[in-house]
Amino acid sequence: MAILVVGSVAFDAIETPSGRRDRCLGGAATYFSLAASNFTSVRVIGVVGEDFGPEEESVLTRRQIDTRGIEHVPGKSFFWSGSYMKNLNEAQTLNTELNVFQSFSPKIPPEYQDSEYLFLANIDPLLQEDVRRKMPRVKMVCGDTMNYWIKDHADNLARVLKGLDVLLINDGEAKMLAKDNNLLSAAQKVLDMGPKALVVKHGEYGATAFFGSHSFSGGDGAVTVPFRAPALPLAEVVDPTGAGDSFAGGFFGYIASQPALTPAVFRRAMFYGGVMGSFAVERFGTERLQNLQPKEIEERFALFRQLSHLD
Ligand code: AMP
Repeated sequence: MAILVVGSVAFDAIETPSGRRDRCLGGAATYFSLAASNFTSVRVIGVVGEDFGPEEESVLTRRQIDTRGIEHVPGKSFFWSGSYMKNLNEAQTLNTELNVFQSFSPKIPPEYQDSEYLFLANIDPLLQEDVRRKMPRVKMVCGDTMNYWIKDHADNLARVLKGLDVLLINDGEAKMLAKDNNLLSAAQKVLDMGPKALVVKHGEYGATAFFGSHSFSGGDGAVTVPFRAPALPLAEVVDPTGAGDSFAGGFFGYIASQPALTPAVFRRAMFYGGVMGSFAVERFGTERLQNLQPKEIEERFALFRQLSHLD
């Protein structure tokens, strides 16, 4: 089972209370792919500039991620700089340079056409929409976005939301999108915009799934009540960048690895999302995800189980 992902492949400059990095490999599609590659095969659509060389590409290919859909063009790669000095749970964007993404027109390599799962990672909703249109036969579509696109690209984003099975965003973004400060009513308003389910990430406090009237049903029944999965309390959060995309990679990667999407699979996927998010924040950039071993993932999943098991 293969997931096709479109989203930013970038260089980031990051400052956190633990230190700073002026240039590290980042981007929503990068974090997503590294996390999801632990569960299933991943194919990436994106664009990079001349500053993105074989060394950067090998971070992905070493994890068997298919990068044939990453176009190399003259110019500079997407660049984002952010600070977590004020709040570790929420990035303050200092600078966003779209660079080569500004004139990007996604092409889907023929080898990617049979992908069954599609992830529309954070990027211009017009690009998300374009890739969605070019992949009409996929079985399931999940997506992400952020305040940058919610603020000034609302109409384009609205069209993307209509075609989603699951939208994954953080709680600030959900409230901003719904123009409502109460999480429950905001979630309902976002569900009314189209996605069948909404996964709201609360940073260090975990994530909550909300289900619309076209909710998922499976062998163990239909889901209607919200479901909350924990996050792992960590001694040190070094760099929260990419936690959301890594959550999405664990979540969707696990779903793609399963024979069917049942409510139980959905709930377990929320836990795998938390597991991958918790690894991402332990080091700067993608460092921790680059060499992650399957045993570490399973050990941490067991820890998540213990953390929230009642009986
Ligand atoms: P998150 O998982 O939300 O922490 O995502 C962090 C990644 O998103 C960083 O590596 C950035 O390169 C990327 N990013 C930041 N702003 C944008 C944007 N406006 N569009 C697409 N990607 C972005």
